[in-house]
Amino acid sequence: MSEVSFVENKVKIATMGSHSALQILKGAKDEGFETVVVSTPKNTRLYKAFAVADEAIEIQSYNNFRQAEEELIKRNAVVVPHGSFNAYLSLEENKKMRVMYYGNKEILDWESDRMKQSTWLEKAGLRLPKQFRDASEIDRPTIIKYYGARGGKGYFFAKNEREFEKGVAKFGRMPLVIQEYIIGVPFFIHYFYSNLSNELEIMSMDKRYETNVDSLGRIPLKQQEGVEIEPSFVVVGNIPVTLRESLLAEAIEMGEKLVKASKELVPPKGLYGPFCLETIITPEEEFHVIEVSARIVAGTNLFVPNSPYTAIKYGEPMSTGRRIAREIRNALEQGRLEEVIT
Ligand code: AMP
Ligand code: AMP
Repeated sequence: MSEVSFVENKVKIATMGSHSALQILKGAKDEGFETVVVSTPKNTRLYKAFAVADEAIEIQSYNNFRQAEEELIKRNAVVVPHGSFNAYLSLEENKKMRVMYYGNKEILDWESDRMKQSTWLEKAGLRLPKQFRDASEIDRPTIIKYYGARGGKGYFFAKNEREFEKGVAKFGRMPLVIQEYIIGVPFFIHYFYSNLSNELEIMSMDKRYETNVDSLGRIPLKQQEGVEIEPSFVVVGNIPVTLRESLLAEAIEMGEKLVKASKELVPPKGLYGPFCLETIITPEEEFHVIEVSARIVAGTNLFVPNSPYTAIKYGEPMSTGRRIAREIRNALEQGRLEEVIT
């Protein structure tokens, strides 16, 4: 638990100035909160220009986010974590934060460790790509991954042990996951689970725009022959999608199963707030889950002010960023802030 006591209504919402901060801070302002951005001098301008930050606390590098902690505590700020909290801070730094932090930090252990993540997904009864323990076992197309939220950087593709060795030589270190490459279409499903009302919502969905895999099909195979093209998965943008409606009930069920399993792994609260299941859907209409993110993902940036799903549910603008602020507001109004922060 955080060390601060809070004065109701004086709580501010804060985040680090990158990734989905515009959306988070805009959502907070729409819900009536004062906002604080922790940013580098270069980025402060951005958040001021968009008028989403009432105040900026400047640091020289995002790796030094914790230097802003005392100032955030003084301001009764609730910090909303996003993908950059993974990229710039270690798991330990995230967990050691004493400022009020939206979400359950204990679940981060299960998200950040690929082995633990597989255990979690399996426990939830979700379908996962086959994992290979050793390169000698590779008998089908695989994707080789390194640790951490790196936006698909440094992944490579290997159909056999020889291609695996070639990739390892190129990147100069041993990868951590050898995973079956699922031939299908990516669907990243954005959820929100409220631990105040025990309700799960589908917020929106995206697919990533990844270079160069998303453009290889533009060059006919015949022209590719003889050219050394390595598929790469570096994310540079996001594209909105909606799911065939007959698959939607299953998508909701997958989110519910994940939440239920998380409560068993990290009792009593488990996972709550925004999260994302990264799936690949095959021609058999089967979802294969490649990863879970236990926080807001950048694909939700597409859905300010809303998505087709939140438009139907809310009848007022509702992004994931705003939904987080709404939850914090509901918690304050019900005198239950402690339940949503760690
Ligand atoms: P950045 O603020 O662009 O440096 O990104 C911080 C972290 O978030 C990095 O690990 C990125 O790979 C990840 N990230 C940023 N934008 C996206 C996106 N649109 N989709 C997925 N990951 C992202
Ligand atoms: P990740 O960092 O795990 O989200 O993966 C980044 C990208 O790699 C995804 O957006 C997919 O395009 C691709 N990818 C990852 N794992 C798989 C898989 N098992 N099968 C097919 N594509 C994958």
